Amino acid sequence: MKDQVEANVPLALLTAYQVGGPAQWFIQPSRYESLAESLAWARDSQLPITVIGAGTNLLISDQGIAGLVVHLRSWRGIEILDEGLLEVRAGESIAALSWLVARKGWAGLEWAVGVPGSVGGAVVMNAGAHGAQMADNLISVEVLTETGERLTLTAEQLQFSYRHSLLQERPWIVLSARIQLETGKDPATLTQTLNAFNDYRHRTQPSGFPNCGSVFRNPKEGHRAGWLIEQCGLKGYQVGAAQVAEKHANFILNLGGATAADILILMERMRSQVYDRWGISLEPEVRMFGHQILI
Ligand SMILES: Cc1cc2nc3c(=O)[nH]c(=O)nc-3n(C[C@H](O)[C@H](O)[C@H](O)COP(=O)(O)OP(=O)(O)OC[C@H]3O[C@@H](n4cnc5c(N)ncnc54)[C@H](O)[C@@H]3O)c2cc1C
Repeated sequence: MKDQVEANVPLALLTAYQVGGPAQWFIQPSRYESLAESLAWARDSQLPITVIGAGTNLLISDQGIAGLVVHLRSWRGIEILDEGLLEVRAGESIAALSWLVARKGWAGLEWAVGVPGSVGGAVVMNAGAHGAQMADNLISVEVLTETGERLTLTAEQLQFSYRHSLLQERPWIVLSARIQLETGKDPATLTQTLNAFNDYRHRTQPSGFPNCGSVFRNPKEGHRAGWLIEQCGLKGYQVGAAQVAEKHANFILNLGGATAADILILMERMRSQVYDRWGISLEPEVRMFGHQILI
């Protein structure tokens, strides 16, 4: 555990893309006191604060991130409040949680089995798959605001929509999530569903190279982003060591040694070709942090 602020900490290996520069200041708190103290220090020093979870939806610039980066991966703990009712700290793995609850015969998180992020990241992104999403079973979250206030926000207050929540526009830290699941289901059937979802993912999505899952949100116009990009003939297209995956065109792979700049240039190419051909403006799903992020 790193409960102290450190200077100039490399971030690339904390992200699924494995690219990006260092954090000017960095803390990986496991105790509330160290989190609150570091935030108060950043506030007094007028430093910007950036929160990262498991880093599976992040593109960090090659120049790194100025200010304090709070890495919440060690913020762990699961409390069972009642049958099917859980209070889960933000750093827990959402995929591991989906296995845990399925084995108890509690339904509602099967979609999350292949999502490699944290519970906090899943709330902020309203992560989802197979027609379900985080918002479906979320009762409330506890957040820490930029002024050090602890607030409980209901799912309604979080204004969830497709891969979006209010938290994407607020500099608040998700501490924990309260989740209500459907009880009394057959654990064997639930775990079968998890295995089937994993098999489907392995058949349809690339693996073997660092990537961040879907690069762009599926546009409102109806077509899926991957299909639109594929129709532009971009599968396999490469900038530096960043490549549009052959298996699924909405994935960018880091073939080894890619930079954030390679990925950004590739994203811009994908976006402009889709716009020129279809008149559709793709919106990045991946969150971009740090200096000189231009897209
Ligand atoms: C192979 C692969 C497959 C994927 N498949 C899917 C999929 O099927 N469906 C899907 O929705 N996503 C998918 N993703 C994307 C990603 O896993 C999700 O978006 C996930 O919810 C991100 O969680 P994270 O902890 O990694 O967040 P990060 O990537 O660390 O952060 C994402 C955003 O959340 C914020 N954040 C994270 N934790 C907190 C917190 N505690 N408090 C405040 N803000 C926070 C960050 O500031 C950032 O804005 C996939 C990614 C990969 C690599």
